[in-house]
Amino acid sequence: MFNKILLAYDGSKAANEALEKAVQLVNLTAGAELRVVHAFDFPRVFVGEGLAPIPASINKEYYDLSNQTAEEVKDRIAQFGIAAVVDVIQGSPAEVILDYAAEHGSDVIIVGSRGLGGIREFVLGSVSHNVVQHAEIPVLVVK
Ligand code: ATP
Ligand code: MG
Ligand code: MG
Repeated sequence: MFNKILLAYDGSKAANEALEKAVQLVNLTAGAELRVVHAFDFPRVFVGEGLAPIPASINKEYYDLSNQTAEEVKDRIAQFGIAAVVDVIQGSPAEVILDYAAEHGSDVIIVGSRGLGGIREFVLGSVSHNVVQHAEIPVLVVK
């Protein structure tokens, strides 16, 4: 049914639930491809009027953390015996996910309902909310 499957992964519990569904979906269709995208956003601080990037040493920690997340998702997917391309891209997560899906011709996006941050009472985090709101292809939101 879905041939080009995109998983948006942030390492959270819900994203790992989403990973399991992504694997099941890949296994439904012979020749289906799985891609994983992880967005990392350089943290910014308020300086006077606007936002400025924070120091390079701290950016490096975020960068390393993102690559660690990518390695982790590769390992988890490999445990299911399937192949996946994993990409780490800088930018605001929802925008990165939507652009990536368009660029790669994905036919479904799989996200967790919530992620690493967020307010517990909300059903959706801001990333999953924005992806559902703006995607032009089906989105599977996994709780
Ligand atoms: P918020 O970020 O709004 O405080 P939250 O962290 O609880 O809330 P989201 O960030 O919306 O919730 O996470 C929902 C899902 O979106 C995650 O399970 C994951 O699938 C995807 N996602 C979130 N952040 C990223 C990211 N940086 N890269 C890739 N996918 C992400
Ligand atoms: Mg989040
Ligand atoms: Mg569940």
